[in-house]
Amino acid sequence: MTAASKITAMTLTDRAKRAANVAAEFADNVDVEGRFPSEGMDALKAERLMGIMIRPDFGGEGANLTEVADICAILGQACASTAMTYAMHQIQIASLADYAIGSNWHEEFQKRICAEQLLIASATSEAGIGGNLRNSICAIEVEGDTARLTKDAIVISYGAHADATMVTSRRHPDAAHSDQVATIFLKDQYTLEQTSVWDTLGMRGTCSDGFIFKAEAPKEQILPRPFAEIAAQSMLAVSHLLWGALWYGIAADATARAQSFVKAAARKSPGQVPPGALRLAEASSLLQLVKSNVVAGLKQFAACKGDGDALNAMSFSVAMNNVKIGTSQTILTIINHCMLICGIAGYKNGTPFSLGRHLRDAHSAQLMISNDRILGNTSTMLLVNKQDTSLLG
Ligand SMILES: Cc1cc2nc3c(=O)[nH]c(=O)nc-3n(C[C@H](O)[C@H](O)[C@H](O)COP(=O)(O)OP(=O)(O)OC[C@H]3O[C@@H](n4cnc5c(N)ncnc54)[C@H](O)[C@@H]3O)c2cc1C
Repeated sequence: MTAASKITAMTLTDRAKRAANVAAEFADNVDVEGRFPSEGMDALKAERLMGIMIRPDFGGEGANLTEVADICAILGQACASTAMTYAMHQIQIASLADYAIGSNWHEEFQKRICAEQLLIASATSEAGIGGNLRNSICAIEVEGDTARLTKDAIVISYGAHADATMVTSRRHPDAAHSDQVATIFLKDQYTLEQTSVWDTLGMRGTCSDGFIFKAEAPKEQILPRPFAEIAAQSMLAVSHLLWGALWYGIAADATARAQSFVKAAARKSPGQVPPGALRLAEASSLLQLVKSNVVAGLKQFAACKGDGDALNAMSFSVAMNNVKIGTSQTILTIINHCMLICGIAGYKNGTPFSLGRHLRDAHSAQLMISNDRILGNTSTMLLVNKQDTSLLG
């Protein structure tokens, strides 16, 4: 048995928990220094968790999205920056695994991801476009067999640490803003000229600096399917579900800290219910709401997977948008409850009940594709789409 096969013989959950233990140890330092969570990411690579969604005949494990979401939730409880880096990487893998079928270059690349545990970044946001995934200003230019692209990418998480980046652009210089393609560029095929520094309130370890991204590569690296299809059927839903899972993880860890605080208070005054106990019960109920939202979304995604019509349906988009809105808003209420329970011990850094990092990381959720933008999109669909009221799924 090789070292790699010894690891993959263990459950994904056990491997994720081992990596999460490492990530948790360095989470505060990653946050304070605003540095890439290299220990957590190296641990995920050592556990061979980077390519698990890829087909087994390409070296992956054929894991489904629910299994990956659970890993994101486990990591979210340890270090949100590690969890977000892992989630964003998996969003690119989901697009590659399902929307580059039959493309020799992309199939060989998937084999490399598994063999070398490569990390893939994403450059969709662009100056002048903001977080509107379905629009690009930059255009890829193909000359003979070569594709060239320059993008003013306002945010590329872990851009300087990735082995490759998936970049959206217009299909050609005369194409409409929404006529997009996605291209994989390997790190030795692009240069990054830094234009902004990621010194933020939270999610500091994602190192989401801005860059002028300049690349040149063989044109076969452009994904064969239109980006409109990849975004509608995979990227938007997978993003909302994996982000929702790790945001749930942040709130779950905050609730666990608040629970330990209440338990310690109960031990100090036997026979008396600590004042935070009622609020903890409220936080627990809200946490279950977030979990149910993510789990229901994952079930709906699994039921629709492979069915283009179901994935393109407005009801599916509305449901996935609602997972994002619901989880991103509710985690803030939960962590705030936990802060009230723990008081100064939660507000202060460096205590077993500290919640500052959780609260700051959680504040990114509403902005990561602006909730107002998503609500605007859902409201347009609700003008014509009938609400799904069935409990049968
Ligand atoms: C932790 C983190 C990591 C990220 N990593 C990446 C990455 O790796 N790659 C990447 O490409 N991007 C990344 N992003 C960027 C992200 O996906 C969004 O593109 C970005 O957060 C949006 O920036 P913005 O708020 O300035 O722009 P906008 O989305 O343009 O929003 C600006 C403001 O305008 C309002 N607004 C804009 N449009 C509308 C509308 N239609 N309806 C209502 N209100 C509207 C919003 O409410 C908001 O107040 C990351 C973001 C975060 C927080």
